[in-house]
Amino acid sequence: MRHLLLILGDQLDRQSALFDGFDPKQDIVWMAEVAQESTKVWTHKARIVVFLSAMRHFAESLRAEGIRVHYRKLDDAENAGNFVAEIESAIERLKPQRLIIVEPGEWQVREDFRSAAMQLGIDLDERVDRHFLASHADFEKHAKGRKQLRMEFFYREMRVKHQVLMDDGKPVGGEWNFDSENRKSFTKQGPPLHAAPKRFLPDEITQQVIDLVEERFGSHPGRLADFDWPLTTADARLALSDFIDHRLGDFGDYQDAMWTREPWLFHSRLSVVMNLKLLDPREVISAAEKAYRAGNAPLAAVEGFIRQILGWREYVRAIYWRFMPGYVGLNELGAEQPLPRFYWTGETDMNCLKEAIGQTLQYGHAHHIQRLMVTGLFSLLLGVRPQEVHEWYLAVYVDAVEWVELPNTLGMSQHGDGGIMASKPYIASGKYIQRMSNYCTGCRYDPAKSTGPNACPFTTLYWEFLMRHEPRLKMNQRMSMQVRNVSRLTEAEKTAILDQAESIRLSLT
Ligand SMILES: Cc1cc2nc3c(=O)[nH]c(=O)nc-3n(C[C@H](O)[C@H](O)[C@H](O)COP(=O)(O)OP(=O)(O)OC[C@H]3O[C@@H](n4cnc5c(N)ncnc54)[C@H](O)[C@@H]3O)c2cc1C
Ligand code: SF4
Repeated sequence: MRHLLLILGDQLDRQSALFDGFDPKQDIVWMAEVAQESTKVWTHKARIVVFLSAMRHFAESLRAEGIRVHYRKLDDAENAGNFVAEIESAIERLKPQRLIIVEPGEWQVREDFRSAAMQLGIDLDERVDRHFLASHADFEKHAKGRKQLRMEFFYREMRVKHQVLMDDGKPVGGEWNFDSENRKSFTKQGPPLHAAPKRFLPDEITQQVIDLVEERFGSHPGRLADFDWPLTTADARLALSDFIDHRLGDFGDYQDAMWTREPWLFHSRLSVVMNLKLLDPREVISAAEKAYRAGNAPLAAVEGFIRQILGWREYVRAIYWRFMPGYVGLNELGAEQPLPRFYWTGETDMNCLKEAIGQTLQYGHAHHIQRLMVTGLFSLLLGVRPQEVHEWYLAVYVDAVEWVELPNTLGMSQHGDGGIMASKPYIASGKYIQRMSNYCTGCRYDPAKSTGPNACPFTTLYWEFLMRHEPRLKMNQRMSMQVRNVSRLTEAEKTAILDQAESIRLSLT
């Protein structure tokens, strides 16, 4: 045997550099389902099913092509439970001359593979992940000489480099960003009529995995009754065209809006299949641009959607690799509270959190504004240790892989990196949630109140956050208006807010 090709659960890409020079006569593919990956954090059952079932489908498709796959199932009696031991035993049996891998999506996993290969005295050929549109070198070039990194400037370079939404060297429509036209809330009647996203009900392979996960990880959070994620490239493409045809047109308008019992609204649900590498982001970007050019979707919606993928998705990955391994330990705001228990159960009388967490437990998914401005905002205002928040996000979302989850959580949402990802903390009072959703209508709290028995905890903690971090926030121009408002409070109001914030913390720990 010549090469052993190692494929991890989030590398299900037949076009990847792993297969460059592949010879089915001499080379074998290695894949392993290891319990360690499902127990490192207390992983949602749906996230475990997504990874295991997508891997099994991918292995089947390789075998159908005549490729030999050395596949270790989770329930194989000899499964050693972790990557390193599994590779060791594969090497002993198959005696390859060399291991080939595409760079993993998690810093620690990359280290583990590198040191395992060294210890075992075997060559490890680590190849670039071509799934992404920006290489590490591209980002280093962008970052060179800049005092501050900001997604917007990187995104513009990506638009030019990849000629996306560009006409004659200029951005289509004359602007790079149409957010001023986006981000509306719904009227009192709620979301306009829209088609529910296409569902992908479990086939035989997925059902077997569901049964296995219920048996092995029954005590893990989350439910599987509504499991309907696409898990093959063919299904991912169906999900893409369903989104383009039915929801892209309204994506921009309502990308920040939230509504009770409306988990999907006008979002694409494509993060899962892109992060597993079943769907190429170029295909998604090009389908969205085509819809605009054909007159089937407005520019503001299409630009807004493309920016999430060509801009944010690439940018957060670049931040991750540039600042790891130190990044995961950052805690610039000195937040030390534990994560409230209700994050794992959804049992809280704060309606917005109950909705966002309830939906997370039901589907393993919540859309961006629910993650940023409900669950993330509350833990930021409460002052939860960012590492605990990170572990929760990594555990409960089906699309969670560390390269994308960590910068979004620790950086964008918790400001734990002190501003590497975002120029200011994303903070708001309950009034923001009231404006962008109908959650407050069914809530026992009042978002306009910061003290008293009906005061919204978000609003209390918002003011207390501004007071607690006043010296730091004062230095930030983008925060100056919010900080100035604190000086309008009387001393008595400030004391009452501080007391109420303390009792919220006491009641949650
Ligand atoms: C605290 C927090 C944690 C997050 N954790 C993850 C995570 O683990 N995995 C993940 O893929 N996304 C994460 N995101 C980003 C975003 O919430 C999800 O990508 C999005 O909700 C996925 O749903 P969708 O596919 O319907 O997205 P859509 O709203 O349809 O957006 C289209 C695509 O844009 C990309 N995208 C949008 N926003 C971001 C972003 N901020 N960073 C990177 N890509 C983005 C995704 O690939 C997404 O599929 C997180 C955001 C926050 C605030
Ligand atoms: S009143 Fe406050 S706690 Fe209740 S739903 Fe609104 S923002 Fe959330």
